[in-house]
Amino acid sequence: MNISCPNCKSQSEPYFISKDYNQHVTNETFHHYRCPECELIFISPIPEDLGVYYPDTYHFVPDSVDYLEKASGHERYKIDIVQQFTKIGSLLEIGPSYGCFTYLAKQAGFHVDAIEMNARCCEFLHDVVGVHAINSDDPVRALRKAGPYDVIALWHVIEHLPNAWATLEAMCSRVKPGGYVVLAAPNPDAFQFRVMGRYWPHVDAPRHVMLIPMKLLVDKMSQLGMKAELVTTRDEGSLGWNTFGWEFFFGNLNANRHIKRVLHRIGRLVARMLAPIERREGKGSAYTMVFKKVA
Ligand SMILES: [Zn+2]
Repeated sequence: MNISCPNCKSQSEPYFISKDYNQHVTNETFHHYRCPECELIFISPIPEDLGVYYPDTYHFVPDSVDYLEKASGHERYKIDIVQQFTKIGSLLEIGPSYGCFTYLAKQAGFHVDAIEMNARCCEFLHDVVGVHAINSDDPVRALRKAGPYDVIALWHVIEHLPNAWATLEAMCSRVKPGGYVVLAAPNPDAFQFRVMGRYWPHVDAPRHVMLIPMKLLVDKMSQLGMKAELVTTRDEGSLGWNTFGWEFFFGNLNANRHIKRVLHRIGRLVARMLAPIERREGKGSAYTMVFKKVA
């Protein structure tokens, strides 16, 4: 049965059926469709209560600022990307979890707010990181009362949102003229996706409700008055997701903790072998984009 694309309304055929291969929260099957026009890949129907597919362990909350200091080292590239475009101002992060990037942005001198669905993470963001945290799983509603901001950042969040288009619109309206939206997400044009299909760890059903092609996202943002300043699958973060993809693709083959560890190591090896392909622009498993508000 064909389904109307949630973006352009074109009739979309079934693409594949998947399961929660990453977290095993449920045994349900999920139906994915691919739009022949805009190439969006989406789950239909989207489960009504997505919250139940995020296990307690999904949102790790550290116990100290020391942990944050160490963990945020791996995410320094994110603040470096932001600071290539703007050094200072107000910044909102949507979906920061416990807040490595939030922490780095605050350290860099930004005035930082956060919108986060997990209440324990919000407590940590407020009490330990020291930022204003809005506890909400509906960014569109939360954005109505927030900002405007010089920067809004979403690191691997947009693919989780059933109302992604409305969120992009709300976000762009809460960025100041001349301000920036910084966004990273899985890349459905990735080499890995072609090889792994439904078993690609970034399919992450049902938590990833859609996979948005780069071209579609750039077009969409342009319609919202946002000019693409950076579009790449080759930044440090995106390259890291290539390794993650292979580690988890192999790791997901076996539930035993020890065997999993060996499989992850094999994944890392395969990632190294395939790096010449995956490091090519557009072929990586994730992209990072920076948009400037021009209208
Ligand atoms: Zn479409």
